[in-house]
Amino acid sequence: MTNELILNNGITMPALGLGVFQSAPEETTAAVEAALAAGYRHIDTAAAYGNEREVGEGIRASGLGRAEVFIETKVWVSDYGYNETLHAWDKAVGKLDVEYLDLFILHQPAPDRFEKTISAYKALERLLFEGRVRAIGVSNFMPHHLKELLASTEIVPAVNQIELHPYFTQPEVQAADTEHGILTQAWSPIGGITFYPGWGEERRNVMEDPVVAAIAREHGKTPAQVMIRWHLQQGRSAIPKSTNPGRIAGNFDVFDFQLAAGELAAIDALDRGVRNGPDPDVARPERFAMVIPEA
Ligand code: NAP
Repeated sequence: MTNELILNNGITMPALGLGVFQSAPEETTAAVEAALAAGYRHIDTAAAYGNEREVGEGIRASGLGRAEVFIETKVWVSDYGYNETLHAWDKAVGKLDVEYLDLFILHQPAPDRFEKTISAYKALERLLFEGRVRAIGVSNFMPHHLKELLASTEIVPAVNQIELHPYFTQPEVQAADTEHGILTQAWSPIGGITFYPGWGEERRNVMEDPVVAAIAREHGKTPAQVMIRWHLQQGRSAIPKSTNPGRIAGNFDVFDFQLAAGELAAIDALDRGVRNGPDPDVARPERFAMVIPEA
């Protein structure tokens, strides 16, 4: 199996990327460099993560050419609206210090201002037409958000990035994505949101799941590698986050084994149907208001 996925507009995206949510700016450059040295060619950041500048530094420090690295970033809600989102592109490319983005997505639907969410997407369409981004997409869109978006815009999103790990697989969202030709990309692909420190002790940590552990033992792999392989074999993109060089490299070492159909099904069966992240249908006015600084 290769690390390549073809998006619905024909461009190629490396399936496995490095995530940098909660990667402190001072650790991000080194994490990106370590990932690119380990073979990653895709980085997922966001305006809201406050580390786009350091992602750009890590890419430049790697010595790889711009076209060799797939850069994905996200527009934050406070920049929704047509002109605001056009300007969000200026901020993102300014911080990353690049001429174009590979994938630019809306970070989430804003239920309290969905018309602005649509205008923001129309700005992404314009950026795509003008060649300033190679693909556009969304994140945390539920089937009804996709339906509304598709009814009022021209370009089908290339990607929908959603919470997706063995304990929360959102089969109905994956089915809606597939129906429309949208690639599903897993955030918290190794279940980070089930064990981030301080996010609630009652969470069940998927990294400690006995079924995943047994499959990992069988293959001489780690639970994280098994979960990443489970995504890739089911055709999804996955963007595990780490700032630890050993774990960054380990999370990419997933191309030398194969999960059997029964193992994929056993992991699918772990779905608890309970979301850990924020509900995309609930507005978070304080969080949404966070201002994204100029480049
Ligand atoms: P994740 O990648 O599933 O898990 C990250 C956590 O796992 C970190 O605490 C990391 O710690 C640890 N970890 C990494 N590799 C490990 C390994 N091999 N063994 C044990 N622990 C390991 O969770 P995530 O960061 O929530 O999701 C990944 C990316 O998705 C984010 O970074 C971000 O790019 C994106 N995301 C998007 C949204 C959205 O709303 N669109 C929301 C959340 C995340 P160390 O760093 O110490 O290794």
